[in-house]
Amino acid sequence: MSDKLKFAKEEVVRACKIISGNGFVLGTAGNVSAIVEGENLFVITPSSYPYSQMEVKDLVVADLDGNIVEGEKKPSIEFTMHRNIYLERNDVKAIVHSHSPYATAAASIEGINIIPGVDIEAAFGLGGDMNIAGFAPPGSPELAEFARRSIEDKGGVLLANHGAIGVGKNMDEALLASDNIERNCKMYLSIMPVGSVKTMPEDFMLFSSNIFKEVSGMTK
Ligand SMILES: [Zn+2]
Repeated sequence: MSDKLKFAKEEVVRACKIISGNGFVLGTAGNVSAIVEGENLFVITPSSYPYSQMEVKDLVVADLDGNIVEGEKKPSIEFTMHRNIYLERNDVKAIVHSHSPYATAAASIEGINIIPGVDIEAAFGLGGDMNIAGFAPPGSPELAEFARRSIEDKGGVLLANHGAIGVGKNMDEALLASDNIERNCKMYLSIMPVGSVKTMPEDFMLFSSNIFKEVSGMTK
């Protein structure tokens, strides 16, 4: 196994332990993946396997054409969703899909299709407002397509009645994006009963968006 493949696998296992430890997933829900640096490959968690038992040997390796090249277990049911995002965004090298409670709640409000970036953390760390991909059953090609179309140039995307996806140029950034999404949605839900989110000035949003793109390594 190459050092880069080994590193990608270790990062995926590390992220699994973190999201299960911080309550972002229930049971075996959620999934994590990482690109193998410099190769046309990504590592993804297996389907329905407990995070507490997850080890490097349990992961699945696939190429970006969608062929499984290594692994004894079945890949996550959201395999196509991860692959679609890597194909859509060449700056994204790691993806964390969680079912964190505030993000899921914010993504489940009737009539709301965009969650505003509430504060400067959302502006600098996520690229501002975040789309909510329309509902489709978990694991369906429709959900994978909705996620691909809705992520645009942001640090993640929400999935209606389902959860969130945080992305980054490495695993730490994808984990941070997931934390930032959850924090932003928690603040949004606390503002909702008392008013609406104050809009940040246009020139600041342009400035922060440029910083976000520079830091994330976005070329799109
Ligand atoms: Zn899910």
